[in-house]
Amino acid sequence: MAKRVQSPSSINTFKQCKRKYYYQYIECLPTLPNIHQVRGNIAHSTLENFYTIDVSQFNEENYTQMFSSSLQQLFLHQWKQYQPKLQSLHLHPDQERFYFEETMLMLMNWSKHFLEDLKQLRTKKNISIAEAFLELTPIREQEMTSEEWSVRGFIDAIHQFDDEVHIIDYKTNSSFEMKDSMILQLAIYSLLYSEKHGKMPDKVGIFFLRQKLKMMKVEKEHLELAKKEIAAIHEHTSKTEDKKDYKCSPSPLCKWSSGQCDFYETCKPFAKG
Ligand code: SF4
Repeated sequence: MAKRVQSPSSINTFKQCKRKYYYQYIECLPTLPNIHQVRGNIAHSTLENFYTIDVSQFNEENYTQMFSSSLQQLFLHQWKQYQPKLQSLHLHPDQERFYFEETMLMLMNWSKHFLEDLKQLRTKKNISIAEAFLELTPIREQEMTSEEWSVRGFIDAIHQFDDEVHIIDYKTNSSFEMKDSMILQLAIYSLLYSEKHGKMPDKVGIFFLRQKLKMMKVEKEHLELAKKEIAAIHEHTSKTEDKKDYKCSPSPLCKWSSGQCDFYETCKPFAKG
């Protein structure tokens, strides 16, 4: 059986529940869009485009205001672009307004950190707004593939500072906890980066948009973790595609107060008999 191309999210799905992996990646049942995914995509697109803004008219008097208003305009534009998807969710107008405002607040929080970084960099190097903006501009939405490991990932931001490389993923999660699934995602990115560039990134982290950036130093153990989990999924999925070999793992992630697993109705994990 041919090796499938895996991704951090397929590997984390497999680890959470093999049956869920089976429905999503082998049977390819449709997944349902939800507001958390859609607003996450909107926030990601806004930040991706933020670094393309023209800063030639920004000066000492206006630059904090100009960066903030540019970010707001980009966000408004993206929210409009995503209207067809938002409408397909059939949210009550009050709910849509709530998510709009909440996402805007997250982006404004991010911009506060961005402006602090810009200020620090300018003080340290005595450079202009445009020069500092350029230095802070990461490589965005970089696709990285490993043929050897049969894994692919899209990295939100790769920052090259003077002598360090930092890989960042943006998350809109409400919790500020670096979960095991996030550590594995970052470990896989580190492996992909190492294979492409012949050296490990120095640090990886999650920018929790409601809070702040949480970073960790990349160690060899992270690459070993990524290799171990990638090998484990290939070992299983290249041997069988039989549903019975992908067991259900019922857990609180099947159904929670505001949602449920995309395959809950098909799976019926808590049905008797
Ligand atoms: S409903 Fe629960 S057990 Fe069933 S596929 Fe989803 S996560 Fe797995």
